[in-house]
Amino acid sequence: MPELPEVETTRRGLAPYVVGRSIASIEVREPRLRWPVAKNLSKTLAGQRIDALERRGKYLLFTTKAGTLLVHLGMSGSLRYLSEPLAHGQHDHVDLRLTGGGCLRFNDPRRFGSWLLASRPETHRLLEPLGPEPLGEEFTADYLWKTSRGRQVAIKQHLMNGRIVVGVGNIYASEALFRAQISPLRPAGRVARARFGPLVDAVRDVLNDALEEGGTTLRNYVDGNGNPGYFRQSLDVYERDGQPCKRCKTPIKRRVQGQRATYYCPRCQR
Ligand SMILES: [Zn+2]
Repeated sequence: MPELPEVETTRRGLAPYVVGRSIASIEVREPRLRWPVAKNLSKTLAGQRIDALERRGKYLLFTTKAGTLLVHLGMSGSLRYLSEPLAHGQHDHVDLRLTGGGCLRFNDPRRFGSWLLASRPETHRLLEPLGPEPLGEEFTADYLWKTSRGRQVAIKQHLMNGRIVVGVGNIYASEALFRAQISPLRPAGRVARARFGPLVDAVRDVLNDALEEGGTTLRNYVDGNGNPGYFRQSLDVYERDGQPCKRCKTPIKRRVQGQRATYYCPRCQR
């Protein structure tokens, strides 16, 4: 599943090819995505210039004067830029064609992605409830500490709650808690104030490490037959159950928590 670093890397990879260019048309071969693609999408956006390509959480925002196109990659989606037309494959559901040639192609085998039009993205029902960006200024130790007071929910689930902070998925929450030496099972309200500084730093660090990794894949977003794919940085704890902890050699444990697998060191994460 594409996580925030993949979405941000997609944005960085595509922006030089689409920002400042105009949309010729949008061909929707399969409108049955997570939400049906609006029939008037192409009509509304044809002729519009893409003024910016931004990201909010895991949404890509293509800004035009006629509205903002929100693209979400869902569980299995990817976007790439084609400078020459290529025959489309089975899961290439949407093509956004640019004036003067070139196209953005959306591939999504599981069809949990979305293509939506928003007149005012800041108040759109999907974006409005989102918490702060984990790499932004609002996400501080003080903020996270305040949101956690009185919460019985485990700290890992608290971190994965998009209303608290966006884009911290299962892998990154597990890795950040390992780095901060906090047990993922500890109730959020029972994590001491002093531990939130290291936790916030750890969240930022794991995401920045992934972005750095993604930087090496930028060219995959342009041309070629392959999919951009999802990158995986070297992980300290995720999917390492039974293997020795990188800090203390205790075997890593796996637990199911809120229907998601959690990996942690039972000795040095408290
Ligand atoms: Zn350990």
